[in-house]
Amino acid sequence: TPAEAPKPPVKEIIRKTITGYVGFANLPNQWHRKATAKGFAFNLMVCGESGLGKTTLVNTLFAKSLEDQGVLPSKVDKGIGPEVPKTVEITNITANIEESGVRCRLTVVDTPGFGDYINNDLAWRPILDNVEKRFNDYLDAENAPTRTQLRNLETDKRIHALLYFIQPTGHSLKPIDIEVMKRLCDRVNLIPVIAKADTLTDDEVNTFKARVRADIEHHGIKTYKPEENDYDDEDTIMENREFMAKMPFAVVGSLTQIELPGGRRVRGRKYPWGVIEVDNEDHCDFVKLREMLVRTHMEELKDRTAQTLYESYRTEKLMAMGISQDASVFKEISPQAKLEEERQLHEAKLAKMENEMKLVFAQKVAEKEQKLRQSEEELYARHREMKEQLEKQKQEIEQKKIRIEAGTPTMEVKTGKRGKFSLGR
Ligand code: GDP
Repeated sequence: TPAEAPKPPVKEIIRKTITGYVGFANLPNQWHRKATAKGFAFNLMVCGESGLGKTTLVNTLFAKSLEDQGVLPSKVDKGIGPEVPKTVEITNITANIEESGVRCRLTVVDTPGFGDYINNDLAWRPILDNVEKRFNDYLDAENAPTRTQLRNLETDKRIHALLYFIQPTGHSLKPIDIEVMKRLCDRVNLIPVIAKADTLTDDEVNTFKARVRADIEHHGIKTYKPEENDYDDEDTIMENREFMAKMPFAVVGSLTQIELPGGRRVRGRKYPWGVIEVDNEDHCDFVKLREMLVRTHMEELKDRTAQTLYESYRTEKLMAMGISQDASVFKEISPQAKLEEERQLHEAKLAKMENEMKLVFAQKVAEKEQKLRQSEEELYARHREMKEQLEKQKQEIEQKKIRIEAGTPTMEVKTGKRGKFSLGR
């Protein structure tokens, strides 16, 4: 009966959500672990006239770490005067800084102050030489048969950023500043800073900044600009904008702790009219500069050094050594240029084929001519031969004729079988 028919089984839908995850989101952690374990290196060069506070600023930047290690001689607060020691040669100071388990091998390269030269026209020379020598050493390490050295942090001595100190004159850039920055800007990430900004009022700083920016633009000096990428998030875009708005950074350096009326202790410079705080963003751009150098843009500065500045040095150097690359590699590939190139190639091919055909034709003609000449000669030869024979026969007949006319029998007795006469029969 229909009542006994089996019911279709109820299908239960099993819903599952993926609880685990594939795992590549962990990649940043891997990088982080690797980078912290290995540590990283950063090479900073400071450059500018003597007495502009280069040493003081570097000390202020990496304050505790460098001083604790006693590597940077502090020249702070000795007052400006002849007794201030001047940087007369390029010096290298390296310190290992550690912060929350992250190790940084910081190298600060101090360059000679320009005031120390009698002729300042070539003040840029030793600095550029030094920067290029570092590129060259790296190139040598790259070209060495074993390149394990490259993994060593100490091998990379390339300058990742150059702080150029501008005297706070309040007017405009000096010719020497323009010359030096022009020479260096293709080889380093150039970051101009206005030294001792505490000697100018806020208004003066702003006007001076505008002048310096205009001068830099006018002379085609390429200062470091953060790269803009499509994938940048809003924070990065803001950071980059702020960075560009502050350029050139007006900085104040000091390691002196000053006690403010409220009891707060700050690093700064004390004046009768008040205290300029180094670490206060309203007082100077020191904090912005440090943030950018250390926190936000260090990696980008290093990338640009390796991928743009060093690469162009490397290409120039290798080309100068006569190592060339297929020129087409450097050509910008536009569709039109490509078509034109293809057309030229095709034409060249046609011309080559035509030439080959002409050659083959000329060769065939020459061969034919040679054959014709040969058969002509043969014909001539045969003709000559026949003519000679005929001549001979003619002579013989003539002789016969003479003999017949003279009456002598011409019958010759031959001893051949048929020609034998049997006279006796
Ligand atoms: P360097 O020759 O460029 O390395 O200059 P130093 O760092 O030796 O500084 C020279 C002098 O300038 C020292 O007496 C410092 O105290 C002073 N100085 C350094 N930084 C500043 C600053 O930001 N403002 C002022 N007013 N003086 C500074």
